[in-house]
Amino acid sequence: METIRTRFAPSPTGYLHIGGARTALFNWLFARHNKGVFVLRIEDTDAERSTPEAIQAIIDGMTWLGLDWDEGPFYQTQRYELYQQYAQKLLESGKAYKCYCTQQELEQKRARAQVEGKPFGYDRTCRDRADQPENLPFTVRFKAPLDGVTTVHDLVQGDVVFPNAELDDLIILRSDGSPTYNFCVVVDDVSMNITHVIRGNDHLSNTPKQIQMYEAMDFPVPKFAHIPLILGQDKAKLSKRHAATSVLSYRDNGYLPEALVNFLARLGWSHGDQEIFTLQEMVEAFTLEGVGKSAGVFNADKLLWISQHYLKAAPLDRLAGLLLPFLAEKYAPLHSPLTPGEPLTADSPWLHRVIQLQQERSRTLVEVADAVHYYFVEQVQYNEKAARKTFKPAAADLLSAFLPILEELETFDVAHLEEHARIFAEENGIQLGDIAQPIRVALTGGAGSPGLFDVMALLGKPLVIARIQHAIAWIRAQG
Ligand code: GLU
Repeated sequence: METIRTRFAPSPTGYLHIGGARTALFNWLFARHNKGVFVLRIEDTDAERSTPEAIQAIIDGMTWLGLDWDEGPFYQTQRYELYQQYAQKLLESGKAYKCYCTQQELEQKRARAQVEGKPFGYDRTCRDRADQPENLPFTVRFKAPLDGVTTVHDLVQGDVVFPNAELDDLIILRSDGSPTYNFCVVVDDVSMNITHVIRGNDHLSNTPKQIQMYEAMDFPVPKFAHIPLILGQDKAKLSKRHAATSVLSYRDNGYLPEALVNFLARLGWSHGDQEIFTLQEMVEAFTLEGVGKSAGVFNADKLLWISQHYLKAAPLDRLAGLLLPFLAEKYAPLHSPLTPGEPLTADSPWLHRVIQLQQERSRTLVEVADAVHYYFVEQVQYNEKAARKTFKPAAADLLSAFLPILEELETFDVAHLEEHARIFAEENGIQLGDIAQPIRVALTGGAGSPGLFDVMALLGKPLVIARIQHAIAWIRAQG
């Protein structure tokens, strides 16, 4: 059986776009599903627009998403000799020819066509010329068939037919000898034994030109699957106007990579009505039959929903490692209030508990980092609405009455805190919430938090007492 070989072939001219990442993912899934090979090829022939930073962003983005490649990265700029050899072969077999038309002549012809309102195609002046002028610069053009049709048997789009009369004699080598885009792609896909070319729909119009070159060189034509582009909610092509489009910005905004992978997989591919897939499930279920013809629409709320799912499911030690940089950036110097002065590390059981209490209540790591602010700041800011509702004079009296009980408490743990709060409420003929809520606002600044006694235990006695004293003073100062 033939080994399936796919490739991701990004042009490194910017960041890794989520559309590109989805193309990479589909190629990766298809290769993994078929126990095949996934190749990474950097199409860096556009010297002006390709940058080392963009190459790094592609590699970082794929690494973060867990899309590992079996071969590569290959760089087209390191393969010029190969392209020359293939061009030479085409010249020798009469499937390509030297074109001596100058840039200026071509421009004039183009201008004329424009005036006459005709589409411009090279008029093939040099196609059958017998002489080979010496010392004149030339480009090498592919001798495309003049009539008939070229059909793309696309695994997603079906058969797409292109009349050959509409296709040009493409330049494959420029006058400086450098190869052009469509030609490099064909040479690479041939020499890398790519069996399936899975790429964005925007490349469909290149495909007949590429197929003609395969045929001219007697190479087997790979199978093609052109996947619909990702659209924004307004059905226009996804752009920054709709959502962040750089893969790494999702990492920096606190999404887990598996959430983005799951989300991207479902943009254009489906398997029944299943939404949540482990990577293994995706690999098992992925086929090109599951890729739809209609475009996937980017839904930021759905991504948040998926993200929340994975945040809930992630093991605490992994989350701690991922969260630390976000915390360190917000709350330097970072330490637990229970062990001030000691740097906080990802294996801290205290941090694990903090995360455990919050992970069901947040959708991204950034939301977790924001939510747990009250452990890491000296004094919290009171949420205006919460303070107005809860910080009444009677609350200050209750807090003052409860304070000595806390001060005397030797074991500052959840069970003791809860027990004393209940006894206090009973003795004062109040609801537990009447004392719990002012404490919550005093400690966290807001009206909602994970279990109050957990939070108190994690904050530790000195900080709890200091914040309650602060709240009492604050309420009394309001008059
Ligand atoms: N380099 C092209 C791009 O970045 C992809 C070409 C291909 O997949 O054939 O859009």
